[in-house]
Amino acid sequence: MDFLKPRYIPMNRRRRIYEGKAKILYEGTEPGTLIQHFKDDATAFNAKKREVIDGKGVLNNRISEYIFNQLNGIGVPTHFLRRINMREQLIREVEIIPLEVVVRNVAAGSLVTRLGLEEGKQLPRSIIEFYHKSDALGDPLVTEEHITAFGWANPQEIDDIMALAIRINDFLTGLFLGAGIRLIDFKLEFGRLWEGDMMRIVLADEVSPDTCRLWDTRTGDKMDKDRFRKDLGGLVEAYTEVARRLGVLGENERPSGPVLVQ
Ligand code: UDP
Repeated sequence: MDFLKPRYIPMNRRRRIYEGKAKILYEGTEPGTLIQHFKDDATAFNAKKREVIDGKGVLNNRISEYIFNQLNGIGVPTHFLRRINMREQLIREVEIIPLEVVVRNVAAGSLVTRLGLEEGKQLPRSIIEFYHKSDALGDPLVTEEHITAFGWANPQEIDDIMALAIRINDFLTGLFLGAGIRLIDFKLEFGRLWEGDMMRIVLADEVSPDTCRLWDTRTGDKMDKDRFRKDLGGLVEAYTEVARRLGVLGENERPSGPVLVQ
């Protein structure tokens, strides 16, 4: 009755599909799926700065799982299926759109440098930016003109991406605010999911303190990857606090509900 047993592939015999800076993709346990593995590697400034930070991958896996589950719950389509273990999740295989979609609520990071704004200033409204995914070029900022001219996405797909990004921003802003965290900005990636002849745009990659700027609403402390970029230290402690406040790590590791911060 061997065929009834779940298919088990030892780690070292799994086929590696792709290795990025912070994650590895392996072939999945069934057709159309992949396994997304979160590494402890931290990189910044187009991988010129790098370090291994013990425990980061585990925290990002858990936080991203929680956020993708919440988004699935409000009808935002995502690639996420389920978490498999401490470092891995089963995802749907999608055709990644080669764009980094950045949503900004508050001036920070490259926007401050580019436009000479004051860091921490609320923007007049949320702003969506597109960067072309290219390590060789350091992910340049691009406009819809470039995106359509070079065929990275068509106008309908850009509309779908922007509508999803705005919904995700509204939802996550409230989710984090309830946990005493200000959502400054974040990066999203989208993919095409084929179901027969039908294609849907779905949220892919991860949403974690590696891909968001998160500031404590009370103290203004940074609870995200800027702790690594700016050599502030205490990255794992900050990510753990984000997880704890979201209710991802309860007492003794038991998942509980979100913790309301007064
Ligand atoms: N971001 C990311 N991956 C990138 C570039 C940016 O996850 O390759 C996130 C970053 O963490 C921040 C937001 O996107 O939350 C905006 O980043 P920004 O353009 O300010 O660039 P940075 O200052 O991080 O280089």
